[in-house]
Amino acid sequence: DWLNLENFNLVQLTDETADMLHMTFQRMIRVHTGKQDVRMIGDKDKIRQLLVILIDNAIKYSKDPIDVTLGANKGVIRISVSDKGMGIPEDEIPHLFERFYRVDSARSRSTGGAGLGLSIAKRIVDLHEGQIDVFSKPEQGTTISIALPLRK
Ligand code: ATP
Repeated sequence: DWLNLENFNLVQLTDETADMLHMTFQRMIRVHTGKQDVRMIGDKDKIRQLLVILIDNAIKYSKDPIDVTLGANKGVIRISVSDKGMGIPEDEIPHLFERFYRVDSARSRSTGGAGLGLSIAKRIVDLHEGQIDVFSKPEQGTTISIALPLRK
């Protein structure tokens, strides 16, 4: 596996991706960032795919607005995607990154999906030597946080 590294503006990529998903699904996706410019070196297509996977999950498993927050400091880029949806039971969280893993059959029927999204997301984060964490409470919502090292 290899990365096609580019220097790009993560704020712009996130805005474009959120706009595209907003137009397709008519859902409110808010992008929060202190700066207009968060430049990073990484595989732009894979980071776009990562954003699509996380926002698409938030769309499928929540109703309220979806919040995407970007930041960069101390050599680390942070991306989080947060929803106020159905959440994930604590004992399921360790399995989320396994291929074909889905939380329950009721969700599978109503939303469709193969259970691949988060395993691909984790792969993309690993390729960038970053970290992905899940914070979730049933009936309250889910936040997926990503930290990526800034390359020089
Ligand atoms: P797909 O392959 O289309 O992404 P999927 O959404 O089922 O299918 P994953 O993205 O890997 O697969 O997610 C795994 C499971 O984790 C989902 O089936 C869902 O139950 C749960 N999940 C993921 N994101 C959220 C979220 N934001 N809120 C609640 N549950 C979630």
